[in-house]
Amino acid sequence: MEGRGQRFIFYGIVAGVLAGGLCGWIFGEPMARVKFLGELFLHALFLLIVPLVFFSMIAGIASLGDVRKIGRTGGAALTYYALTTLAAVFVGLLLVNVIQPGRGFQEHAAALTDPALASRIEESMGKTPADALKDILFSIFPKNILDAAARQQILPLIVFALVFGGVLTTLGKAGKPVLDFCLGANEAVMVMVRLVMYAAPVGIFGLVAGRLGEQGGGAAVGRELAAVGWYASTVLLGLAVHALVVLPLLLYFLGRRAPHRYAAGVAPALLTAFSTASSSATLPVTIRSITERNRVRSDVATFVLPIGATVNMDGTGLYEAVAAVFIGQAFAVAAGIHIGLGGMLIIAVTATLAAIGAAGIPEAGLVTMLIVLTSVGYPQEVITAGMASILSIDWLLDRCRTTVNVWGDAVGAAVVERWAPPSSPDSEPHEAAN
Ligand code: ASP
Repeated sequence: MEGRGQRFIFYGIVAGVLAGGLCGWIFGEPMARVKFLGELFLHALFLLIVPLVFFSMIAGIASLGDVRKIGRTGGAALTYYALTTLAAVFVGLLLVNVIQPGRGFQEHAAALTDPALASRIEESMGKTPADALKDILFSIFPKNILDAAARQQILPLIVFALVFGGVLTTLGKAGKPVLDFCLGANEAVMVMVRLVMYAAPVGIFGLVAGRLGEQGGGAAVGRELAAVGWYASTVLLGLAVHALVVLPLLLYFLGRRAPHRYAAGVAPALLTAFSTASSSATLPVTIRSITERNRVRSDVATFVLPIGATVNMDGTGLYEAVAAVFIGQAFAVAAGIHIGLGGMLIIAVTATLAAIGAAGIPEAGLVTMLIVLTSVGYPQEVITAGMASILSIDWLLDRCRTTVNVWGDAVGAAVVERWAPPSSPDSEPHEAAN
């Protein structure tokens, strides 16, 4: 029954993406009316995020057991996240310097029609890396955890659950009922995720068709792509190299998993990431796919995936590095910009930082990219004009980089599982996939 249900969801999602893409491409604007189906699905996923992050982190910590194991697993995860994001940024920098998409670029400014995004961009204008670091710190320690949860800020919830769960494991008998409650609640939330996934085919159809419809259909998308073609191709090529070469090699050599089989297992999460453009919204699906379809130990997966969805963004780092250099190249003559080796290093470091600081929501990377553009010293007019030129295609690149972000998290779970200390008796066994 479980097998059949999973197959239905998997093929349903694939059909949803294909049918949504086809209908949105061909019928254009009228398809914007089906977007609400996708939004309903997104709401259902977001509804589960707060309890999922809270209980799954505690369940993960409880099954990992003692604090040293938590430290080793967490340390392995953070090392993996930082190094792979940096690797992705270098892939992007290499390609953008070889392809040089900004040379001879005809400016194609788009109007910023989304007021919420406009105000997020406005807020971030002129921020330095020090401001960005401070922002990250303040977002980890807000004044009120309920307020943070209400705003769906995941990072403080992770930290709170981490400490709360860690303390519970040290309380012995007094902590046991609370831990048992959290373990039970976690299982209940995971079952709710499965129920929501039955709606995924229709929801994903609505998201893809609705977005293409809003964009004006296939012809309009084709025009947008043509205007910023070299830039978009450089980002997409970089994402492809990272997702299809770098990460599978890590998965094979460090995670000891067969990449094609592992990718097939995690496919529902990848397709959900592409449709929602949000790592956080995809998190419930990622956890389910990894533990059930790929049989990664659930103590490791529930512990590292919420952190990964929030801080590990390989695709975003790569995109920010390419976009920053592209803008520099495009305005090299007009504004006398020259990015030397020092500039490239600043871009590498700040793009990694900006990717870590980006929330797992649509277009977050576009906003945190301002940190990179300011740090490298572009004048304000260049930043504004540069952002306007890459805006029109960002909705599509956002989906692609989110898919790579989630793939990076999934590979990370397999790699960290190998480094993590052996499981305690109640965590699930790992079955080698190759
Ligand atoms: N949408 C991306 C994510 O959720 C973040 C970004 O905008 O790059 O992973």
